[in-house]
Amino acid sequence: MKKGLLLVLSGPSGVGKGTLCDRLRQLSPELVYSVSATTRAPRSGEVEGKNYFFTSRERFQSMIAEGELLEWAEYVGNYYGTPRRFVEETIAEGRDVILEIDVQGAMQVKERFPEAVFIFVLPPSLEELQNRIQSRGTETESAIRSRMQVAADEMRLMEHYDYAVVNDVIDLACARVQSIITAEHCKRERMLPAVKSWLNEV
Ligand code: 5GP
Repeated sequence: MKKGLLLVLSGPSGVGKGTLCDRLRQLSPELVYSVSATTRAPRSGEVEGKNYFFTSRERFQSMIAEGELLEWAEYVGNYYGTPRRFVEETIAEGRDVILEIDVQGAMQVKERFPEAVFIFVLPPSLEELQNRIQSRGTETESAIRSRMQVAADEMRLMEHYDYAVVNDVIDLACARVQSIITAEHCKRERMLPAVKSWLNEV
C-alpha cells in the first residue's frame, strides 16, 4: 500500500492556520489532523483531545524522555509537541496527515521525514497579521509583541519550505493547499512503485 503524505503546515500566529485547517476539514474530510500536546492553558471553546491534549509540564517532559514525540518546541513560554505513534500509524495506513506546527518543530520533522511536504502560510500583509492577532482579543499587549517578533523570525525560515500559500480569502487558500496535495500525489516517485509492479506483470 502507498504511504500517506505527511503535510506540515506552519505560519505566524494569527495568520489563520486554524481557520484554514477547519475549512480544509470540511472540504477534504479524508485528511487526518494530528492533535498536538501542549502545556498552554486552553482558550475558551477549545476542547481537550480535539484542539490539543492539554498537558502538565511534568507530563510533557516525560513524553520527551520516553521518545513519544515526533518533534517538540517551546513557543512563547509553552511547550508544544506532536505525538509520534499516531502520525506513523496513520501514514502507514495510506492516509494523509496534516501537522499544524511551528517552524522549529517543522525543521525537526524535516530531519526525520525529508519526504514530508512543507507548506508555509503567509498573511496578505504584516499589518493584516497584527490586526488579526489583536482582534483575537485573547492576548495581552506583551504577548502580542512577542508573537509579532516570533512571526518575523518565522517568516525568515520560509526558505526551508516547499510551498507558500497566502491566506487572503479562505476558500482560495484552501484550494491552493488542495492543489498542492493533488500535485504531491501525482509526483513520479510516488507513482513509480505501482507502475513498476504493473510492468512486472506484463
Ligand atoms: P497556539 O498557542 O496559537 O495554539 O499555537 C502557537 C504555535 O504553536 C502555532 O504556531 C502552532 O502552529 C504551534 N504548534 C501547535 N502545535 C504544535 C506542535 O505539536 N509542535 C510544534 N512544534 N508547534 C506546534
